[in-house]
Amino acid sequence: MGMQGALQLLYPPQCISCAAPVQSDFGLCADCWRDTPFIAGLVCDQCGMPLPGQDAGERALCDDCMTIARPWDRGRAALMYQANGRNLVLALKHGDRMDLARPAAAWMMRAAQPILRPGMLVVPVPLHWMRLFRRRYNQAALLSRLIARAAGLEHCPDAVSRKRSTGNQDGKTRDARFANLAGAFGVPKAREARLRDRDVLLVDDVMTSGATFAAATEALLAAGARSVSVLGLARVAKDG
Ligand SMILES: [Zn+2]
Ligand SMILES: [Zn+2]
Repeated sequence: MGMQGALQLLYPPQCISCAAPVQSDFGLCADCWRDTPFIAGLVCDQCGMPLPGQDAGERALCDDCMTIARPWDRGRAALMYQANGRNLVLALKHGDRMDLARPAAAWMMRAAQPILRPGMLVVPVPLHWMRLFRRRYNQAALLSRLIARAAGLEHCPDAVSRKRSTGNQDGKTRDARFANLAGAFGVPKAREARLRDRDVLLVDDVMTSGATFAAATEALLAAGARSVSVLGLARVAKDG
């Protein structure tokens, strides 16, 4: 028995969602897998929203991305913010389940395959320092670090910073979310040289209206980034 086998006897692998016994580490049991809405098939190339129809290899866009200004190039998300997808995101966000970051990053890596480019700089959306203080860690930075490592890309956790508090976006309309976030982000002077002419992969846990990604993308482009693509763990279907 190798070290791996010995460890599995001590700590039998459990489903990361319901703790039922599973065959291998960092996975979901069959029931939780079925209840987790992973995104597959044809998606909007800019926001990752599932679209009806077959993937014909052409760039497809959803209605929102055709009508809302999206300053970034391409985007993907691993799962829909529904059913067990929502449970997993909330557990990672508020429940101090940092162990969920590893499987979540692996799912995001798979979703990101079509949009990854060699030499990309991986950057998380920052948490406001007040919330960082209360929550103790930025789950977006946790995910972006793991994704950068798995993809063999450079990670820059502090490329984007919040210039002011934006409060809670929950319960705001789409227009209010965009207005609230406009100009909220900046790039520290000390990070501009590292960003210049780089393709950036911007990472967050949840994409709702896209207002946060849009505001952070604008800060990155203003600082000299060549392009920005976005990657979320979960995509919210409609504005709440
Ligand atoms: Zn389970
Ligand atoms: Zn879209």
